[in-house]
Amino acid sequence: MAVNLTAYRQVLSEIDHYRARLVAVSKIKPVSDILALYEAGQRIFGENYVQELVDKASQLPQDIQWHFIGHLQSNKVKYIASFVSMIHGVDSLKLLQEINKQAAKHNRAIDCLLQIHIATEETKFGLDEQELYQLLDQASGLPHVRMAGLMGMASNTDDEAQIHREFAGLKALHGHVKAKYFPDTGDFKELSTGMSGDYKIALEEGSTLVRIGSLLFGARNYV
Ligand SMILES: *Cc1c(COP(=O)(O)O)cnc(C)c1O
Repeated sequence: MAVNLTAYRQVLSEIDHYRARLVAVSKIKPVSDILALYEAGQRIFGENYVQELVDKASQLPQDIQWHFIGHLQSNKVKYIASFVSMIHGVDSLKLLQEINKQAAKHNRAIDCLLQIHIATEETKFGLDEQELYQLLDQASGLPHVRMAGLMGMASNTDDEAQIHREFAGLKALHGHVKAKYFPDTGDFKELSTGMSGDYKIALEEGSTLVRIGSLLFGARNYV
């Protein structure tokens, strides 16, 4: 259950070099582990499950920035809309509209990242390029959604060249989208790529937010 502070400091020095930020992925891990990393200075934590996020947020310091990184169902947005700082995995217009509606009730705008499918595996969520442009064409007039960038997960493979290609492709897509849809705002700036196994490659390919769990908190034992 111990948090790996040596790995934490190592990751911090690496991301600092690239001016990226760390999302410490604490899903399944106890509040005490989050607090240990908080006390070491970490403020951004990522969670995958709505109920777990709500429970943890109520028990932990107010200045934690909670990022939702899982697959968010529209009917659950209302539980996190008052406090969530960023939602990483948005992949439908329906979800964006619901986020807009719930954020409006709290008089705020929520940072959203659109999830792009870049891996070869079929099972992962996310939009392809065509779906992305379609969604962007339809997603105007949502004042309580702040489009903050793109998110993607690379293939689960030992082929580093392939991981490089997938992350580089997403970075290029981010550039195109920014130029076409968000040329005049600084908001569309995030590229959420990289996990424990591939974050170094992600940083080399322009990641601004790495999402790291097991390297910091140890392997997750699902029960
Ligand atoms: C669990 C998870 C992570 C962290 O994975 P690790 O391999 O433990 O670093 C990152 N991103 C998403 C979307 C996740 O679900």
